[in-house]
Amino acid sequence: MFEGPLDESILKRARQKGLIEVEVHQLRDYAEGRHRITDDRPFGGGPGMVMRAAPIVRCVEALKPPGARVILLSPRGQLLRQEILARLAKLPRLLLLCGHYEGVDERARELVVDEEISIGDYVLTNGALPAMVLVDGVARLVPGVLGDAESASEESFSEGLLEYPHYTRPAEFRGRKAPEVLLSGDHGAIARWRKEQSRRLTRERRPDLGDSG
Ligand code: SAM
Repeated sequence: MFEGPLDESILKRARQKGLIEVEVHQLRDYAEGRHRITDDRPFGGGPGMVMRAAPIVRCVEALKPPGARVILLSPRGQLLRQEILARLAKLPRLLLLCGHYEGVDERARELVVDEEISIGDYVLTNGALPAMVLVDGVARLVPGVLGDAESASEESFSEGLLEYPHYTRPAEFRGRKAPEVLLSGDHGAIARWRKEQSRRLTRERRPDLGDSG
């Protein structure tokens, strides 16, 4: 689940340069018994399996370096937003816990989890993709990871607005012209156009975001 995204493009380069470090751990290594079982049937009945508390707690206790924040990926968590990524990007180390099946025994959450994060109001099969979403979103905010320092500052959500539309060559494509102002070389006019477009898009698509007036 992790090797592909971590071994491509920006994340790969960031790891090679030592700007970020990502380690993947196998929960089964912290389970006891010959079969190293990490899940069990839910008390009270019902469908599916629940991840047992002990392997999770032992894993976190064994790995948790000082200052690390333990995050459980969970549809019940706080909805992930850009400002949460910005807060997490400033922390020295994150320990991400991926649930499977029906989720994790509540006592594991109570004992070792600092915060629960959801990547959206929908349910996926397990926490690996949500964890990768978080790793990717945090990594690109770590200084030096993105080539152009500006690309993380002007984008959607950074100022409570969606980003303005982009255009590149050719100036006309299938009868559609790029806005002339972008070709004018007038940086003040370009900045004003982009701000207006950001406000318009935010008003139309995401009025809940706020600063679109
Ligand atoms: N029974 C759980 C519920 O109704 O909330 C759903 C469990 S889900 C099938 C299994 C695991 O996938 C979760 O424990 C969590 O780690 C992960 N997961 C699924 N959807 C997620 C989301 N939207 N955000 C974060 N994690 C998610």
